[in-house]
Amino acid sequence: MRCEMCDKEATLKGTVEGSELSLCESCSRYAKNTRLLQRPAPVMKRNKSAAARSFARAPAPAAPEKRIVGDYAERVRKAREKRNWTQKQLAEKLAEKESLLAKVEQDKTVPSFRVAEKLEQTLHITLITEVELPGVAATGKAVALTIGDILKVK
Ligand SMILES: [Zn+2]
Repeated sequence: MRCEMCDKEATLKGTVEGSELSLCESCSRYAKNTRLLQRPAPVMKRNKSAAARSFARAPAPAAPEKRIVGDYAERVRKAREKRNWTQKQLAEKLAEKESLLAKVEQDKTVPSFRVAEKLEQTLHITLITEVELPGVAATGKAVALTIGDILKVK
């Protein structure tokens, strides 16, 4: 690499009047943002992409995550009405406040897992689901389901 200003051996890179140039040490004083030339480009690239790959893989969790279902309010209300229980009666069975139950049924308050578990047991409904997050776990499940479906068909 040659200095683009005087044609000596360049050891630095820098910006001269908006252009990035290879520069020798003596010319680098005219430049801004000077830095040492980075020579072995292929090695640098490989290191960088390996780091990028491991970074991309890192956030994908293997375990499914528990979530409250989106239509929890409707599920609770319907199950309660099916049993002809008032909100107060259900609240007493759960040992929770009637006001909390009312908010849950109005879709205003997402029940905590603790309350949701009690609702599930008392009303025999499902409020907590395991969400497969994108990543290895989701792919594994999809494949397993496909194989299971094929076996069922046969
Ligand atoms: Zn120079």
